Amino acid sequence: MKRIILGGQAIIAGRGSLDSLREINGARAFIVTGGNSMFANGTIAKIEKVLQDKKIETCVYSGIGKNPDTGAVLDGLAKMRELEPDVVIAVGGGSPIDAAKVMALMYDYPDLTFDNMLADELPQQRRGVKFIAIPSTSGTGSEVTRAAVITFRDQSLKIGLKTDAFVPDVAILDADITMSMPPHIVAETGMDAVTHAVECYINKSLDDFSEALARGAVAGLLEYLPVSYRDMTPESREKVHHYQCMAGLAFANVGLGVVHGIAHAVGGQFDLGHGLINAVVLPYALKYNSQDAEVRRRLARLAREVGCDDFVNAVEKLNDILNIPKSLRETGITEQEFTAAFNQLVENSLKGSTRVNPVPVTKSDMAALLKCIY
Ligand code: NDP
Ligand code: MN
Repeated sequence: MKRIILGGQAIIAGRGSLDSLREINGARAFIVTGGNSMFANGTIAKIEKVLQDKKIETCVYSGIGKNPDTGAVLDGLAKMRELEPDVVIAVGGGSPIDAAKVMALMYDYPDLTFDNMLADELPQQRRGVKFIAIPSTSGTGSEVTRAAVITFRDQSLKIGLKTDAFVPDVAILDADITMSMPPHIVAETGMDAVTHAVECYINKSLDDFSEALARGAVAGLLEYLPVSYRDMTPESREKVHHYQCMAGLAFANVGLGVVHGIAHAVGGQFDLGHGLINAVVLPYALKYNSQDAEVRRRLARLAREVGCDDFVNAVEKLNDILNIPKSLRETGITEQEFTAAFNQLVENSLKGSTRVNPVPVTKSDMAALLKCIY
């Protein structure tokens, strides 16, 4: 038996769909965002205008950076409690959306602690506050997933917390706000989406619903991501924005694998973008997973789907087009840093998504894989 969550929430898609915020009802809205990008491209001003027209009191909380941690969540939570919102609007990349998910849950459940979360004792329903997610990158799918990825700095640990209470009520997919993404962010976040679709497609718990979504997402992303990166056309940005959401819907019901296991471990130790790490790791991990006959069969099917002979090779070519580094070393992690972090990296990489990798990964497999990727 499998419980698949595809409905139960609204997805409002299409360029200009930010305007659908006019339909919000509420007295006070707490807006969570990242650094500067959503101010610079006018999105925050647009949102504030819509809410002010509706006489909804607003407070903007900004500054959520890459790999958001428990400190950032607590800081935002304190501001959220001051406002007492009935609506939370998370707008930005996956980092502010995830941080806002955890803030909103802690706001709804004042006794909930990070220790509860680490022990997987999470409430399964939001209580009162309505949660609207507006992604500005095209990658994480966080606007439709039951996951929030948070870093526990004291343990150099980045983990995906999961509960239905993290599924946003409304996801607004307006590609206009992704137009300001510079090419390298398009490449990195887009490869996060590719990784979601592919890791889910080769996962042992793939179901018929998620398979169709993952297959569609892989084909769509391979076609439109290079165009979005190179030509930056609104049409290609919109396609990628929609396909990354489908990849999110697919993996949310299935799970991922060793690429995300490693990406969270590396992201917990080094200040690198999540998508970039996934992109670097994906070809190595697919080769590792190809020792399994079923994985080889599914990758062959994906290859037929996108019209190439070898799917791993197609991913490597895509990485080349997107100017993704070929190893962790090339991302700037020095040999000294890598060696110092190595044992912890091996240990943390074995946690999380690696547990559901189609091929079991032992400690020595992981050590060898990480050395290879470096
Ligand atoms: P971030 O949210 O970390 O954003 C990366 C960068 O992109 C920031 O510098 C941000 O700038 C910039 N940016 C965002 N949108 C725009 C835009 N439209 N124009 C210009 N610049 C922009 O990156 P991701 O979206 O990749 O999110 C990564 C996080 O999501 C990771 O922590 C990852 O683990 C998590 N994740 C969560 C999943 C889930 O299901 N919950 C699934 C997969 C990943 P600024 O700060 O100025 O806005
Ligand atoms: Mn991811």
